[in-house]
Amino acid sequence: MENRPSVKISPIAFLKIFVFAVNAYSNETGGILIGKEVKDEIFVTDAEEVCETSSKAYVLLDPVKIANIAESLERKSSEEKIIGWWHSHPGYGADFLSEIDVNTQRIYQKLYDKAIALVIDPSRWVRDREVFTSDIKVYRLENERPAEILWEVSSEDVLKIIAYAAMEILGKRFVDGTGEEALQESIQKEFLAIREEIKTINILLVILSMTIILLSLMLLVLSP
Ligand SMILES: [Zn+2]
Repeated sequence: MENRPSVKISPIAFLKIFVFAVNAYSNETGGILIGKEVKDEIFVTDAEEVCETSSKAYVLLDPVKIANIAESLERKSSEEKIIGWWHSHPGYGADFLSEIDVNTQRIYQKLYDKAIALVIDPSRWVRDREVFTSDIKVYRLENERPAEILWEVSSEDVLKIIAYAAMEILGKRFVDGTGEEALQESIQKEFLAIREEIKTINILLVILSMTIILLSLMLLVLSP
C-alpha cells in the first residue's frame, strides 16, 4: 500500500482523454499522461493522444511522438514529465489490464517507478451521455500484478461538465446509433431557450424605461 501514489487528474487532462476516447470510438486509442509528483501524489496536468495504429481491441503508441513530447518537456525544464500512459477499452470496461497492457506498464515503471496506466471505456457516454467514475480506472503493477489506484478529479460536477463539453465539442462530428440529429436538436433547444430568456429580459427593460419616462412626464405636468 505504501508504494501506491494516489492520483489527481486536472479537468483539462481528463476532458482531453475523454474527447480522444469518444472520438476514436469504436476503436481503441491511447497516449501519454503528463504531470508531476506533488508530495506523495501524482498530479496529471495534461494528456496527449499519440496513437500510431489502432483497432477495436488494440492500440500501438507512436514512440517518435512520445520522444518528441519528452524532449519538449525537458527543454521547458519544468517539473512536468511523462508520468504514465492511457488507452481506451471501448465497450469492454476499464476493469482490467490485458497481458499486453501489463507488459507496456512494466516498461513505463522501469523508466519511472511511480508511472501509472489509465484505462477509459467511453461506451456509456456514447449510449447514455453519462460519465461514471467506474468507466475510468488507474493502475500500477505491484509484484507484477495490476493494482488499482484511487484517483479523483475535483468533484462529481466536473464529470457533468465534461459530459456536456464533450457533447458540444463532438456534436457536429459525432455519429452513432441515436443519430447526430438528436444531439444537434438538444443543443439547438438550449440555445433557443437562452435566446427566449434574453428576449423576455429586453421586453421587461423596455416596459421599465417606458414607465420611468411616463412617471417623469406626469411629474413634469403635475409640478407647479
Ligand atoms: Zn488494454
